[in-house]
Amino acid sequence: MRIDLHTHSNASDGTQSPAEVVSSAAESGLDVVALTDHDTTAGWEEAAEAAAEHGIALVRGIEVSCNHEGISIHLLGYLQDPTAPGLLEELERARESRETRAERIVELLSRDVPLSWSDVLEQIEPGATVGRPHIADAMMAKGIVAERGEAFDRYLYDGSPYYVSHYAPDPVTAVRLVRQAGGVAVMAHPFASGRGFVVKDAVIEAMAAEGMAGLEVYHRDHSAAEVQHGLDLAASLDLFVTGSSDYHGEGKPNLLGENTTDHVVLQQIEALASGVEVLWP
Ligand code: AMP
Ligand code: FE
Ligand code: FE
Ligand code: ZN
Repeated sequence: MRIDLHTHSNASDGTQSPAEVVSSAAESGLDVVALTDHDTTAGWEEAAEAAAEHGIALVRGIEVSCNHEGISIHLLGYLQDPTAPGLLEELERARESRETRAERIVELLSRDVPLSWSDVLEQIEPGATVGRPHIADAMMAKGIVAERGEAFDRYLYDGSPYYVSHYAPDPVTAVRLVRQAGGVAVMAHPFASGRGFVVKDAVIEAMAAEGMAGLEVYHRDHSAAEVQHGLDLAASLDLFVTGSSDYHGEGKPNLLGENTTDHVVLQQIEALASGVEVLWP
């Protein structure tokens, strides 16, 4: 069974609709795909319909933005009740702050490059979670950069003079809220130092103590040494290990199924969750 537990649609910063992500997943031979948009479950319904149509299993999930002492980290939540008020409130607050922050980034950028907020708005699906990739897409449309990666390398990277942070809950709170919503918490790409700053292992230990269940160890942003460290840390904290693509459609080179998760781990996720169920075909 081929299982990919981390993908994005245009409900956040992916380039395909939720239905397209699911049909691409089926086409690429996956048996199970999780839709994990940043800070929103807006794509769940469309993805569920597409999953039934294509005969593929769907794990409904989310990638919760978190902030630990100024460092941005991501927590995957699986099968949580999307209406649970505690988590919902934090997600709404983060999404709102993401919008103000993106406008501020564009304001700073517009001093140096020909880019306006309306250019960025053209790149965002109504209601989608706004992120730096949408600014990158607007820069591409204006011919300022050739691809998202170039926009991040030159303008949008963490710590750039144009960088502005946004509100996000601390990771221990996020783990608690995902669990209270009946979901299963797994830390996304914990050691991906190439993409920005990473937190110390002590933070991961605190998240595990709050009931986080797993670590996404197999991810293209991890070096071989980071994978090994993840395996060691997961073993010592009694966490399961996942592998995923972090697919963003055309927005990143990541390919569906390039890393996968063991069937036994999916069974553990199903057993731990009490929010919603895996949708089997
Ligand atoms: P934000 O959510 O605004 O903090 O932006 C972070 C998002 O940007 C991540 O979720 C990635 O999807 C995306 N991202 C980060 N670095 C790159 C890159 N080099 N190329 C394409 N997308 C990137
Ligand atoms: Fe993303
Ligand atoms: Fe992420
Ligand atoms: Zn992601």
